[in-house]
Amino acid sequence: MKHTPALSRRRFLATAAAAGSATLLQPSWLKGEDSAVDPRIAQVLSRTIGIDMHNHVYPAGTEPHPQHGPQAGQPPRQQEQQQSPDLFIAEELKRSGLTAVCASFVLDFAPNNKPGDARDNFLHWLAAIDAQLQAGHMHRALSLKDLKAAHEHAQPTIVQTVEGAHFIEGHLDRVEEVYKRGLRHLQLLHDRDDMVSPLGDTNTNPAHLGGLTAFGAEVVKECNRLGILVDLAHASHETVLGALKVATQPFIVSHTSLDTHIGSNLRMAEMMKPRLISKEHARVVADAGGIVGVWTHLADSLSDFVVSIKQMVDAIGSDHVGIGTDNDLLATRPGQGTNTVYPNMAGGFFPALVGEMLRQGFTPDEIGKVGGGNYCRVFGKVTAGHA
Ligand SMILES: [Zn+2]
Repeated sequence: MKHTPALSRRRFLATAAAAGSATLLQPSWLKGEDSAVDPRIAQVLSRTIGIDMHNHVYPAGTEPHPQHGPQAGQPPRQQEQQQSPDLFIAEELKRSGLTAVCASFVLDFAPNNKPGDARDNFLHWLAAIDAQLQAGHMHRALSLKDLKAAHEHAQPTIVQTVEGAHFIEGHLDRVEEVYKRGLRHLQLLHDRDDMVSPLGDTNTNPAHLGGLTAFGAEVVKECNRLGILVDLAHASHETVLGALKVATQPFIVSHTSLDTHIGSNLRMAEMMKPRLISKEHARVVADAGGIVGVWTHLADSLSDFVVSIKQMVDAIGSDHVGIGTDNDLLATRPGQGTNTVYPNMAGGFFPALVGEMLRQGFTPDEIGKVGGGNYCRVFGKVTAGHA
């Protein structure tokens, strides 16, 4: 029977609602005899290690270190880090249809009042994640082998990362300290500079460091030495060019969109403008073998999100694009516009995304790469021989 997208979508929602939360990596609506569902969705899902390169899971117990009081001018997003008292990573991951999310914590939004606080806050969060993983009988993915095993056994996992390497504070040995705690993906920069030894200019503050600092270059080299994937989301163009000079491994920009793209969510587009990147910037990452992750922020719907992905693929090729939602794993909540294309409760984000990409003309091969294959390639290369 010819695939009819509208019917498929309605069936998808109805079947998913009936199935409730009883979904594994392949939700039940894909396993049935529903001729309106594109059969290629199941094929792509079975072959693809689905990965969200930038995801904010803040389950119970992961709030910033309670001993540190609130910081002056603390942004409201502080509260977002404590938002999900009943979230269990294992369950939500299975519901999403993804094999893995790169689990990130906005470290510079934690109450870091003096040197040492950022390290304490990050270690506190890692310990809370340890407890969550233990409760869900999960382990962090430390290598490509771990990601493959997670997919094969339908046991989702996380790649440990952090948004802003503010825990380093001039102490290079702290990179190895968190490596030993399971971190394999490090986003150097976010909004604020490292309190002690800044790593480089961001794309939201006026440039004042000359791009990547000398210490930032040391951190890139240390990541390459240890087998940690470097993530240059939020970095200025000069910072990326600086990293290009010293990096011996490909790096990624986990969550952004092209600055030529105006999505359907105009309010977010205006707010996020400084965080968008030029085609030239994206090509620097791609030419070095890396990946640019497309986020959901500029889209009001899944179909708009796929349009954003398509524009990035047209600019730098399907070998260099990934998904970086910058969301958590929860369903849409009232008043939280950034979550509208993460329909986790409606049968799984990733199956829905695969279906929409097929509908918009992506081939199964391209979806496999963008959906996680590219991340696996780069993560496998960077971590090879280290885990
Ligand atoms: Zn970010």
